[in-house]
Parts: sequence; structure tokens; C-alpha cells
Amino acid sequence: VAVEVVEETGSTNADLLARAALLQAPLLLVARNQTAGRGRAGRSWLSSSEGSLTFSLAWRFEGGVNRLAGLPLAVGVALAETLGRLGVQVGLKWPNDVLRDGDKLAGILIETQSAKDGGVWAVIGIGLNLLMPDEAEALLGRSIASLPWLARMDRNELLAALLDGLADALREFGRAGFGAFVARWNLRHAWQGETVTILDRGAVLHEGAAAGVDDAGRLLLDTVDGRIAIMAGDVSLRVK
Ligand code: ATP
Repeated sequence: VAVEVVEETGSTNADLLARAALLQAPLLLVARNQTAGRGRAGRSWLSSSEGSLTFSLAWRFEGGVNRLAGLPLAVGVALAETLGRLGVQVGLKWPNDVLRDGDKLAGILIETQSAKDGGVWAVIGIGLNLLMPDEAEALLGRSIASLPWLARMDRNELLAALLDGLADALREFGRAGFGAFVARWNLRHAWQGETVTILDRGAVLHEGAAAGVDDAGRLLLDTVDGRIAIMAGDVSLRVK
């Protein structure tokens, strides 16, 4: 995979999306400093030049965008497994977060663009907190996780390890779909059995016990009316 490093940009996802139509091969874009990082549904991702790793990977898949429903979860598994190999245990929160001791350590944002030949480019953005400044929590109004121990590791080595793990996972996802990741995701499900609520723009849509994900990457929820499966869309998940 070709790698490009830039000193500073607004959003590595925005940059790669703008270039996706012209790409011939996978491309990893790393920004030492990302000034306007994005989250889902117009939310933003905060990073610091010294204290976080921000990058996006453009990867082409065959078929339509509907095949990519479980991709954010598969990417979470890849991150968790790589971090695990580096000695850091993390949990996964549906659909797209990596948690450490209950707080968000990394965010995953996937945006897509149709490829000219009928396939689709997925731009997979990852923001990983290594050593975020103290002000970050006040700015965000929530507590977040960092990895001071990993922050001491050589950035290039860390990035290479994450890219290796990601590329393996993306090849596997292309071949086998999310089915290859279900058990691995469920093994790391941070909120298994917890009572959670599903929110849509602040309004509670459902409440129940989180029971892992199915082979389409939907969250299974045991409610008073029985088990239901939730599609990611723009809903948010909160533990009660
Ligand atoms: P959640 O349900 O955790 O609020 P989400 O999955 O709906 O998040 P995302 O789009 O994944 O939201 O992430 C954006 C959110 O992540 C922001 O609204 C902000 O609260 C939080 N956030 C932004 N930067 C960071 C960071 N560096 N570390 C941890 N959390 C962050």
C-alpha cells in the first residue's frame, strides 16, 4: 500500500474522498496534524499533532456499497487485534468505536464513493488517541482514553503495524464479508449484556440488553418485546 504523509490537513478522509475517482490502488494518507477531523453525521474528531495518530486508507471493494454495512465493525476488530498484539486490550462499542476502560480511545469513520468500474472506494478514517492534552476532555465535554505507553513507541512502527492489520482485515472482508468477523467482534463487545438505549437525534428509539452483533453487523437488542436487530444508520448508543 502506498503511503503519503502530510504535515497538516483539515481531514484526511475529505482529502482521499476528493481523490478517490482518480485512484488506481489503495492509498494511505497520514496527517501529522489534522485540524478539522470528522465524525459521523457532521460530528467532529479532535486530534493533537503530538498526541494522536490520524490517517485514512482508501481501499477498493467489488460490488455495491450495500456490501460494506459491516465494514466499520471489521475495522474495529482489526484495530483491536493489532493493539492486542502490542499489549493493549481494548473493547468495541457498536457501531464504530474502540474503547479503553470504558472511554473512547479511537474513532472510525468510513465514507464511500462509487468507482468508475462499478466497484466502490471505501475511505476508512481512523483517529487514535495516544497522549491527548488535558484540555481535550473539557473541550469535548466527556472523558476520553489515551495510551501513554503506546505514545512512546516509534510512530512509523505503530502505523506500520496498524496498516498491516488493517490490510489483512480488508482483504478478508472483501473475500468473506463481515461473517469472518462476527465472533471476533462479539468477543470484544464492551457492552455485552448491558442495558443500553438507541438514540436518534437525542430521542430514545429502543432500550434493551445489548447481545452482540449478527452477521450483517446489526446490533442485537433484547427488549421487552423480544430480540430486535438495529442497523447503524445515524443512531447513537448509550449505556444506561
Ligand atoms: P458517541 O456515540 O461515542 O458519542 P458516535 O459514534 O456517535 O459517538 P463519532 O462520529 O464516532 O460519534 O465520533 C464523534 C464524537 O467523538 C464527537 O462527537 C466527540 O464527542 C467524540 N470525540 C471527538 N474527538 C475525540 C477524541 N479525540 N477522543 C475521543 N472522543 C472524541
